[in-house]
Amino acid sequence: MTAPETAAATEPKARAVLIPVTMFSQNCTLLWCAETLHAAVVDPGGDLQLIRDAIAKTGVTVTKILITHGHIDHAAEALSLAEELGVPIEGPHRADQFLLDSLPVAGLKYGIMGARAFEPQRWLEEGDRVEVGQLHFDVLHCPGHSPGSVAFINKDEGFGLVGDVLFRGSVGRSDLEGGSHETLMASIRDKLLPLGDDFSFICGHGPTSTIGHEKMTNPYVAEILR
Ligand SMILES: [Zn+2]
Ligand SMILES: [Zn+2]
Repeated sequence: MTAPETAAATEPKARAVLIPVTMFSQNCTLLWCAETLHAAVVDPGGDLQLIRDAIAKTGVTVTKILITHGHIDHAAEALSLAEELGVPIEGPHRADQFLLDSLPVAGLKYGIMGARAFEPQRWLEEGDRVEVGQLHFDVLHCPGHSPGSVAFINKDEGFGLVGDVLFRGSVGRSDLEGGSHETLMASIRDKLLPLGDDFSFICGHGPTSTIGHEKMTNPYVAEILR
């Protein structure tokens, strides 16, 4: 089946499937460029077989692993997958190094046996750019849930991945080590809300949303806007 030519010009280049992993139903995301079929696995926290299945089903070539932050449900099995696929890990921000170092300890606590400490090939900072095939993602450093949380923003297509910073109807918890509710709210106000009402985003847990939807319905965001 061939798509009509007029539609082809506007067809989105970015594709994504969500793969809920671990007991925390964390949205590991297989993200790829439709032109090149080059892909990134974002936040492979665990359940690698589900991730392998998704890669095989879509037929994409994974070229890197991206990490939004160092919590166990997002990062525990990143190193194992990176070694298996022979790809580098990019992110999170260096401020989450202490979380990556303590992944084995957290693994024991939560019964995630494959948890391994690692240092990514590339730490990410505000203003950095990450490429996946022909897709470009701007990096926003959004501390508060964890000190080194980052968001990946694709301005061309008006969507991004925000990890555990902002959820549909809620925000990330700030009671974990290195968390700060005030800092988290500042990250949302100064970095995410300016992306505009139509901007849609994949959250670390639960359904996707848009900035506009959260402005209308999210009580935490309402507090900022008051
Ligand atoms: Zn988290
Ligand atoms: Zn999480």
